[in-house]
Amino acid sequence: SVPLELRAVERRYKTEAGTLAVLKGAELALQAGEIVALVAPSGTGKSTLLHLAGLLERPDGGEVFVEGKAAGTLSDDARTAIRRNTIGFVYQFHHLLPEFSALENVVLPQLAAGVGRPEAKARGEELLKQFGLGERLDHRPGKLSGGEQQRVAIARALANAPKVLLADEPTGNLDVATAELVFSELLREARDRGLAALIATHNPALAARMDRVVTLKDGKIAAG
Ligand code: ADP
Ligand code: ADP
Repeated sequence: SVPLELRAVERRYKTEAGTLAVLKGAELALQAGEIVALVAPSGTGKSTLLHLAGLLERPDGGEVFVEGKAAGTLSDDARTAIRRNTIGFVYQFHHLLPEFSALENVVLPQLAAGVGRPEAKARGEELLKQFGLGERLDHRPGKLSGGEQQRVAIARALANAPKVLLADEPTGNLDVATAELVFSELLREARDRGLAALIATHNPALAARMDRVVTLKDGKIAAG
């Protein structure tokens, strides 16, 4: 089934000045193994789109399908289970748990998804090593650089081997070489495991290397 599909998705916000229609029939399908760049100016609805795609909010019209399932018909519990098991998020601000080590930050979401601790730890170590953090497993986020924290956040997003990755500027804080490492690891996840990724970025060089670029125009998805 198609990992993620948005059909005729609408989202409106009530503001003091009236109703602001941000998405007005957005259509997007992400195929397994595909990495899609979302490149659009600020204020056009990228975060809104990522939140709807990640089942954090419900659209005012249209439907979001995850692995062929219409999310609108699901209970909040079922949506939470999909967020835990099927979708990985990378935010601009990493929201790592400050009291826990890098490794624990990658282990905890796996425990929440029902994975046993030894297996979760092994997967966490492997992922952190993959992202060049093998020497940082026991560091708390506060002892890591911004770029290191960002890589922990990406490792965490991949911890439960999601089918869909949603990312907001995942390489924003990284130097060129590290951004390259992160991108090639994401590409590998896509190619090897069929991960489908939607990556919002302002970096045109990075976007150009993805399978496809889309933008937001007047509340709709358009070819970028
Ligand atoms: P982007 O991520 O592309 O910057 P957003 O999705 O954050 O865009 O926002 C799109 C538009 O919707 C902006 O004009 C923003 O101010 C407005 N907006 C976003 N969230 C809300 C909200 N909760 N209430 C009112 N307006 C909002
Ligand atoms: P949990 O009890 O596992 O935290 P949640 O529904 O709160 O269940 O979160 C599931 C996933 O969605 C987590 O990966 C979390 O990071 C993400 N998430 C939850 N709420 C928000 C939010 N308001 N903005 C961004 N991400 C969120």
